[in-house]
Amino acid sequence: MEDWTIHVEYSTTKKEKPKDEALAFGKVFTDHMFIMDYTEGKGWHDARIVTYQPLTMDPSAMVFHYGQSIFEGLKAYRTPNDDVHLFRPEKNMERLNHSNRRLCIPRIDESFALHAIKKLVAIDKEWIPRSPGTSLYIRPFIISTEPNLAVAPSQHYKFMIILSPVGAYYKEGMNPVNIAVENKYVRAIRGGTGEAKTGGNYATSLKAQETVAREGFSQVLWLDGVERKYIEEVGNMNVFFKINGEIITPALNGSILSGITRDTVIQLLKHWDIPITERKVTMDEIKQAHQDGKLEEAFGSGTAAVISPIGKLTWGKHDMTVNEGKTGEIAKSLYETLTGIQYGQQKDPFNWIVKIK
Ligand SMILES: *Cc1c(COP(=O)(O)O)cnc(C)c1O
Repeated sequence: MEDWTIHVEYSTTKKEKPKDEALAFGKVFTDHMFIMDYTEGKGWHDARIVTYQPLTMDPSAMVFHYGQSIFEGLKAYRTPNDDVHLFRPEKNMERLNHSNRRLCIPRIDESFALHAIKKLVAIDKEWIPRSPGTSLYIRPFIISTEPNLAVAPSQHYKFMIILSPVGAYYKEGMNPVNIAVENKYVRAIRGGTGEAKTGGNYATSLKAQETVAREGFSQVLWLDGVERKYIEEVGNMNVFFKINGEIITPALNGSILSGITRDTVIQLLKHWDIPITERKVTMDEIKQAHQDGKLEEAFGSGTAAVISPIGKLTWGKHDMTVNEGKTGEIAKSLYETLTGIQYGQQKDPFNWIVKIK
């Protein structure tokens, strides 16, 4: 019988909180964590909030060998009235199960998982920083824990949630970045795990990222794994182009991660009556649009940066400067509206905000 009560064991010590100015990304964790176990035949059980602490695991735990794991990423925002906002968290819970299905991990009850997030954030509420642009990053994740070297879906799992106060992504205003189009490595292929949020996708992306970073680029633009022709994503973000007044983003095809920020951007653009099309986009088309002077904007979208303008795209010998290397109007409006809603400074006509009591 599955039991959904969360046992809370408050931490007896309180860690020192870093100053907002010193916050980076994902280096500091709050006082508590959520943890719950899965055992085949019994289901998910023993939901608890305890002191943030290391785990004890068998060296043969399957996650160490075959990488059966998934994660999510969302944020809690503190508003000027000291309310706490989550942004479309039910979409993260839906995607969690989407990733679970792909990785043969048992389903989690979505409303329970959201309840666990809310309860943990409420307990560690004081950790949500107050300075503009800061937030509390929420990392739910599931790992396979059965001690077994046979290749098969694990019979034991842990679902955990950890929290990390993070600094403002843009400390000195929005900075357009230089992007290298990746011709050698691929992030994902159709039929693979590209549409799941799983650690393996990140492990395979490091080499390309490391290589271009040495040449001074911030991220790579990923092309499809078969023809190296169609644009998929930029770094760990979805990507948008403005060509001759129309916004275009690669259609979800199984190897692209379905970003919640991506979906939000599409909804906002539709609401503003700005033409937005989801379809296949080739690198040739972008190069042509640039040559014709019609490549007006390019930007990435994701929870961490919200919107990340692209100032220059380099594809082999071709350097394409976008909008004179400056942030475009659409990118700016999207960023301001989205963060305005998230931080409770703007109306939320879409009911995207979930308040934590
Ligand atoms: C998480 C992620 C994104 C962005 O998703 P959001 O829900 O918008 O944060 C995009 N691409 C990849 C590969 C990701 O892992």
